[in-house]
Amino acid sequence: MTALATDATIGAPALGDLRRAVREFLAAELAAGRYAPDADSWMTGFDPAFSARLAAQGWLGMTIPTEYGGHARSPLERFAVSEELLAHGAPVAAHWIADRQMAPSILANGTERQKERYLPGIAAGTTFFAIGMSEPDAGSDLASVRTRAVADGDSWIISGTKVWTTGAHLAHAMVLLCRTDGQPADRQQGLSQLLVDLPHPDIEIRPITSIDGQAHFNEVIFHDARVPATALLGRRGEGWAQVMGELAFERSGPERYLSTMPLLRAWASRLSETGATPEQRRTLGMLTARAWALRRMSLRVASELTAGRRPDVLAAMVKDLGSTFEGDLVEAIRSAGTVLARPGSADPLQRMLAQSVLHTPVFTLRGGTNEILRGIVARGLGVR
Ligand SMILES: Cc1cc2nc3c(=O)[nH]c(=O)nc-3n(C[C@H](O)[C@H](O)[C@H](O)COP(=O)(O)OP(=O)(O)OC[C@H]3O[C@@H](n4cnc5c(N)ncnc54)[C@H](O)[C@@H]3O)c2cc1C
Repeated sequence: MTALATDATIGAPALGDLRRAVREFLAAELAAGRYAPDADSWMTGFDPAFSARLAAQGWLGMTIPTEYGGHARSPLERFAVSEELLAHGAPVAAHWIADRQMAPSILANGTERQKERYLPGIAAGTTFFAIGMSEPDAGSDLASVRTRAVADGDSWIISGTKVWTTGAHLAHAMVLLCRTDGQPADRQQGLSQLLVDLPHPDIEIRPITSIDGQAHFNEVIFHDARVPATALLGRRGEGWAQVMGELAFERSGPERYLSTMPLLRAWASRLSETGATPEQRRTLGMLTARAWALRRMSLRVASELTAGRRPDVLAAMVKDLGSTFEGDLVEAIRSAGTVLARPGSADPLQRMLAQSVLHTPVFTLRGGTNEILRGIVARGLGVR
């Protein structure tokens, strides 16, 4: 099975050269033993050296203007590169959050100083970000965040606790959603975003171990941590609107349906070697057709974002359907009975299946649960 086939179908035949270049790069990386394809590599494949090599190719910060170290390329070109990296299970977690949502967010809301400070490092693959939204009592109900930043002269003093903060132990900065004004009962009013550099002496980062024994996310505790007043991202009190803008980028990208694509590709290769039963062929065809439909939807979101619109409802639909598909794919291959799930196996297919089975529960949680996304879709359709 080819990664995700022709760009002519999305009106972008010129992307073929770019895709070829990415595939050649990845083939060379594989041949040199510099990475092993894995499922969910955008969340767990943390490899700063790989990120730096991608940056050297001009494939990070692709849509950042050149004056900030970027490459001024189109979102569609960035989309094509992302698809290739994800479908081939490349270890892109280190830079993923920074490149996906912090670059657009800082470009849209940041001061000139913040743009100069963070964007060149994002494009160079040397500045990584974490997202500090969720709290122990504020996940789906994000507007109830209690972490507070109090203005004190030229500083903010931050207190509170964030949780499930992916990569905070490795990131150079975190985008923090916190209350700067009013009370928790004010909900969306009075929330702001801060760019907090890490590590920080008064910010404690405690690892949380997940079911596969790895520790990718954290509890992050702010002990009256002082950061400069210039850490404010965008406008004080506008944090909620800014976060909603960011979430459209966070929810709609190709990673929301391609996390387990390396597993599907490996399974398809195995079937072509061993021969497939009619039932297995049918399963492969069904999964491929679903991936294709999701891809068209995701591309639509990308083009809406490019046009400066806010496709929140479509982004929620893509993530709901896409993350459901990612899990269905794992279950379909597992129940096809030809592959055993074995963590640490020398057989990449067995290893990837094991990794995917263990990761499946998170697909429909991270970035907003499916129940919440369906609420957004229902409201968008006018259902009360
Ligand atoms: C792998 C992973 C990585 C993550 N990384 C980050 C990160 O980097 N930064 C960050 O800030 N957060 C991160 N999160 C947190 C994620 O955003 C939250 O887990 C998610 O928003 C759900 O919040 P919760 O866990 O508090 O669950 P809850 O909000 O407590 O929800 C529990 C259950 O109740 C359901 N539910 C809740 N409210 C409603 C409702 N109104 N209607 C119907 N059903 C409802 C939910 O759908 C869910 O099934 C990550 C999560 C995971 C799994």
